[in-house]
Amino acid sequence: MKIKLFGVRGSIASPGTETIGYGGNTACVYVEGVESHLIFDAGTGIRLLGEEILQDTLPVYLFFSHYHWDHIQGFPFFKPAYQQDRKLYLLSDHLPESPKSILEQMADPHFPVPVENLKAEVRVLPIEQGRIDIGELKVSTFAANHPGGCCAYRIDSPHGSFAYVTDNELFPPQQPTSTYEQWSAFLKDVDILLHDAMYLQEEQEGIHGWGHSLIPQVLQLAVDAQAKHVILFHHDPSRTDTQLDQIAQQSREWMKEQEGFHSQVFLAREGDCYELDTGILEYSPA
Ligand SMILES: [Zn+2]
Ligand SMILES: [Zn+2]
Repeated sequence: MKIKLFGVRGSIASPGTETIGYGGNTACVYVEGVESHLIFDAGTGIRLLGEEILQDTLPVYLFFSHYHWDHIQGFPFFKPAYQQDRKLYLLSDHLPESPKSILEQMADPHFPVPVENLKAEVRVLPIEQGRIDIGELKVSTFAANHPGGCCAYRIDSPHGSFAYVTDNELFPPQQPTSTYEQWSAFLKDVDILLHDAMYLQEEQEGIHGWGHSLIPQVLQLAVDAQAKHVILFHHDPSRTDTQLDQIAQQSREWMKEQEGFHSQVFLAREGDCYELDTGILEYSPA
């Protein structure tokens, strides 16, 4: 199973000299299927992903965590959607609105190209009872803790497993949609856990209830779920490369101090590639 990160920021794209190392595009993660492409979220990172798959005509399964701007805004710039011989399936779960609602952003006066110009066969694919199989990839869904709702995904394959959990507050101030114990169970023994880790412990006060997790909470979850590798994702747009390097170092130190199980810690970086073969990870940095 091959996973490539195309957008790792939360909230808003943040290009600039201080963010060039980790990248400034918003949420978009690619998972290679058998004769298919799986994409998780259509943040601004999806533009470049679109360029990379333009030469083939494989079906695209585009999964949405939710429809906040940072997860949909790249869609009108996803060139495969304009290809005549392309099948493009939109999927989501645990949300009140259909994923088709992301097409509304192309309406006047917000975008010059009308939705009718999408030449691909765009179709909503329902997910029944939290499960859908795409070839050998078995995708399960889980309700995340986020204002307005959010959906997390776990993909199990014969080569390994990967979980995409963005915009999830593990300990929200109100009753959570999914409890910490339920998360631990859903993510049990996953090979790679990619999780929203937007905030530092010391930033907790102002942001409690915003629907994002603190870094130490995510590290603890990785340990409790015995996730072999954890990727911290959805970086705050103001976080510089230097700060993210420090977070990586501190997170690895935190992990080292734990007794018993250890997860290998990564910070999500645009262009990084993770390949799983029978649970063994090959990591290719951008
Ligand atoms: Zn977000
Ligand atoms: Zn959100």
